[in-house]
Amino acid sequence: MSHALVLNRNFYAVHIADWRKALSMVYQGHAEVVDEDLVTYDFASWAELSAVMSEHPAGFVHSPSLRIAVPEIIRLTRYDRMPQREVVFTRRNLYEHYRHRCCYCGGRFRTSELNLDHVVPRSRGGDSSWDNVVTACIPCNTKKGNRLPKEAGMNLLVSPTKPNWGGMRSLVLSSPIPIRASWQKLIDRAYWDAEIGEN
Ligand SMILES: [Zn+2]
Repeated sequence: MSHALVLNRNFYAVHIADWRKALSMVYQGHAEVVDEDLVTYDFASWAELSAVMSEHPAGFVHSPSLRIAVPEIIRLTRYDRMPQREVVFTRRNLYEHYRHRCCYCGGRFRTSELNLDHVVPRSRGGDSSWDNVVTACIPCNTKKGNRLPKEAGMNLLVSPTKPNWGGMRSLVLSSPIPIRASWQKLIDRAYWDAEIGEN
């Protein structure tokens, strides 16, 4: 069973859909097909192109009158069709977001050597959210203890932020679905854009 990568209007991957769902969204005009050069096709032009394709990596579906190439990538034509997936607040995504670095000393550590630090300690009402939790190495985390960074004479090198991954990296990290070759270009692009966005 083949899947299609679903992009939002800004060409960021937000979802992975079963090919039937993808094709029906294109058919209904809610999405368009995207090829590897990021050229977009509505259903009619995709059907036209499909008719003259000799082969297609994801194969074809046949109806009595049509042969349609199974879309590998689609792009939503409206913003509200499928909400952008939020990056889930998990330990794994936190490590990933802060690149396995301690947000106080900047050192890079293995997962086992990094703690999660509540910038405003929980005992002071600090919540467990992207806005208040960062990664910290064990020595920094211990030094800070149950205090605010200022009280501990420590500085945050990066402020707590919500990842701006466009959903892509979390998709890549969490999806059990193998990444298709045609998705790779978009994944790389989203990755580098995310790098810039986080600085
Ligand atoms: Zn540290």
